[in-house]
Amino acid sequence: MSKDDDGNMPTPEEITRKLSDFMKANFGETVSFTSNVMPSFGAQPGATDESGDGGDSVVEEKRDRSIFEFDYLPRDIKAHLDRYVIRQEEAKKVLSIAVCDHYNHAKYLRRLAKVDPDEARQIEFAKQNVIVVGPTGVGKTYLVKHIAELIGVPFVKADATKFSETGYVGADVDDLVRELVRKADGDVELAEYGIIYIDEVDKIATQGSMIGRDVSGRGVQTTLLKLMEETEVSLRNPNDMQSQMQAMFDMTKGGKSGAKNTINTRHILFIVSGAFSGLDKIVNRRARQGAIGFAGESREILEEGELLAHAETQDFIEYGFEAEFIGRLPVRVVCEQLAAPDLFQIMKGSEGSLIRQYEREFEAFGIKVDFRDDALEKISEFAAKEKTGARGLMTVCERLLRNFKFELPGTSVSELIVDGELVNDPEAKLARLRESGATISDTKLVGEINAFRRLFTEQHGVRLVFEPDAVAAISEKSQARDLNGLELCQEVFRDFQFGVKLIQKNTGQETFVLTRAAVDDPDRFLSNLVVASYAGRETKAEDEKVAIESDADHLPEGPGFTSHEADLPPAPSDQDPDASPPTGGFA
Ligand code: ADP
Repeated sequence: MSKDDDGNMPTPEEITRKLSDFMKANFGETVSFTSNVMPSFGAQPGATDESGDGGDSVVEEKRDRSIFEFDYLPRDIKAHLDRYVIRQEEAKKVLSIAVCDHYNHAKYLRRLAKVDPDEARQIEFAKQNVIVVGPTGVGKTYLVKHIAELIGVPFVKADATKFSETGYVGADVDDLVRELVRKADGDVELAEYGIIYIDEVDKIATQGSMIGRDVSGRGVQTTLLKLMEETEVSLRNPNDMQSQMQAMFDMTKGGKSGAKNTINTRHILFIVSGAFSGLDKIVNRRARQGAIGFAGESREILEEGELLAHAETQDFIEYGFEAEFIGRLPVRVVCEQLAAPDLFQIMKGSEGSLIRQYEREFEAFGIKVDFRDDALEKISEFAAKEKTGARGLMTVCERLLRNFKFELPGTSVSELIVDGELVNDPEAKLARLRESGATISDTKLVGEINAFRRLFTEQHGVRLVFEPDAVAAISEKSQARDLNGLELCQEVFRDFQFGVKLIQKNTGQETFVLTRAAVDDPDRFLSNLVVASYAGRETKAEDEKVAIESDADHLPEGPGFTSHEADLPPAPSDQDPDASPPTGGFA
């Protein structure tokens, strides 16, 4: 690789193109050359900062504001986790403490290294690597991810099953460390303080009869052990031709001798987890034999399924781990299975709740989705039966709302209430929506009507909701009159605000649901509402009830797909057609 005529170095893209041409010319079309690794190398220290100044100090400054100025208390970290993670109190505490110890130590060593590097190197410290025992979907990854986010260190997750010993098929454990560098945008020093989280670590336990698996499992344990202790990992994967070529290129380029080629794992925090099925039996056996650790403890503990919390090093060894491996994981904690009420709480109370996700997804189609508690309770019960923790919520919701998400976008439906009724019989609910005219797929018209609604709210502070049959009526009329939806609404509801304001004065009502009757004969529709609002006011006066409920969420649910129907008096057809407003009318 050579510099161009102006002495500029080729860009990574140019290198990729040239190498690709070279590969094709020498090995034919069957050999390809991909460039997905290039950007991360481009981001490594020394590679990006062509000026040789400025960049490093920015990185330095960023670091000093984050992990090297670590000043969290365990309770700060737990409070942060409480916002997202429901239950798992013990795990939150244990992880918060382990993280504080780990990063306080890192901070201390870094300061010491500045004044006495030799002393800093010699200090012994037992790293607080953590083992989390718990079933799938109960928040193990979620906990670690939020910790890493809070304290600002890179975080990498992998499944232990993906690895095999170097040389066999499978990913290389060292890749985890390199991935940390990528996550740290090439900042090797920050990556050296990252968190590596390895799930399904129970799958690399060696187990009696499965010889082949044993060999591989033990091998992976050994390689992981090296990382957990202290080792230097090359920033370039030795098996990856492209990264080797990049290394050669960097050497040729010269002038960057200060850039690190390896990453040290001394301060990387390792958190491993797994379901460890069968470990409870081992603990139980030991307990029954009256082994140490259970002395004086009541047998009730065994009955209560708290066995895993009592797992000790020897239980893990019996389970199939090397003593050295398990010895490097001194902090142990159990995450509990989540029951239906916990899942309900996750939907209702967690900041990262699935409900928000669904709200956003439907919102993108212009549909406001409203989850009611009775639906959430049922969804949680179904999800608990899946036995996949909070993941079950996603499974159940996806199954439940799949057809709604397919059929409703592009129709006149602008609100969907997910209530117990919908959960019990989603098909029936969907059929009702279809019948009521919800399948008008004129998105242009819906957009125009929504524009009118927005304007009306802006000008008069009142929200209008159009039932599907009202949309159908607008569609017919606008075609007949050759007007667009907005123009037609503006004409039909020209004087609507006067009556609406009157009703609002009487009842405090803020949302008005419009049916076909409102479009066909807006004056009459409104007159009836006004009459009803006076009636309501009199009743209220008699009852001396001052508070007027205007929040539709607190009202009984109507049969349609918006609760705002409940705001309304009986439909005009049910009312006395001769009734006229006591004021003489506004028509
Ligand atoms: P695992 O225990 O298998 O690592 P995860 O942490 O990946 O499970 O959980 C999957 C998803 O389920 C998370 O992204 C989160 O949205 C949700 N979740 C799981 N457990 C909890 C919990 N205890 N509190 C809140 N949300 C949770």
